[in-house]
Amino acid sequence: MGRAGSTVAARGRRETAPPGYECLDGEVPVLYAPRLAGKARELSGYLAQGHRALGQILSVEPPRIAAYLVADENWSVAPRENARPYPTGLPYFTRSVDPPALVLPGELSPVFRPRTAATLPLTVWHELAHAFLLGREVVRTPAWLREFVPQSASAAVARRVGLPLEEHLSRIEREPGFTVRDFRGPAGAEDQMSFQNLLLVLGAAALEEFGEGFLHSIFHALWDEDEIVDGERAEELLADALGPGGREWLVSRPEFQEGPP
Ligand SMILES: [Zn+2]
Repeated sequence: MGRAGSTVAARGRRETAPPGYECLDGEVPVLYAPRLAGKARELSGYLAQGHRALGQILSVEPPRIAAYLVADENWSVAPRENARPYPTGLPYFTRSVDPPALVLPGELSPVFRPRTAATLPLTVWHELAHAFLLGREVVRTPAWLREFVPQSASAAVARRVGLPLEEHLSRIEREPGFTVRDFRGPAGAEDQMSFQNLLLVLGAAALEEFGEGFLHSIFHALWDEDEIVDGERAEELLADALGPGGREWLVSRPEFQEGPP
């Protein structure tokens, strides 16, 4: 989050994997712990699908990125911006290496739910969508819009590659006690997950109603925006991206209501 750095290859950047890691070539090369070779092949497939689909949906040249599949025992030396390691089991995107990289764990943290055949690919495509968005300069936006974009993009990739989401969506708790607009951080991991899940439901519903064209519009609108986006502007950008009837639809959605103060 925060300001996107330049996409220019910078001084002092390095490509570093923990010692002994191997590389699986592909549209997105995967550097992996040798004991995770099977998982590396599975992820390589999701990464190629997502990279290709997002390039098409957004009409952009996909960014040059890599993925690191990091074993828990090496998590503390995984590439990252901050000095302290992030919690294990949580994938993230980092520009601390060249090319920028998705860092993926051998096993997703148990906070990821629901657990279905769609959980892992959706998670990979979510991080990939962040990578696409941050391939250009982006201003700050409210949390709901910042995470709605990758959640709806991951659902759009699922549609393109024929991964059914019905079961996954049916297992999401629709009333966690907040909506996407009144969710406030810092929050515990479970509430974060509920927030992300509400955004996935909203994104899948938007795809159903408007098709995937709104993703092209919202990514490009965010790249064109040069002032910090507040709540009102965020709503306007998304409503415009959805197209005719977008605003009415958005404010009618239960996930988007403003809760009690
Ligand atoms: Zn995210």
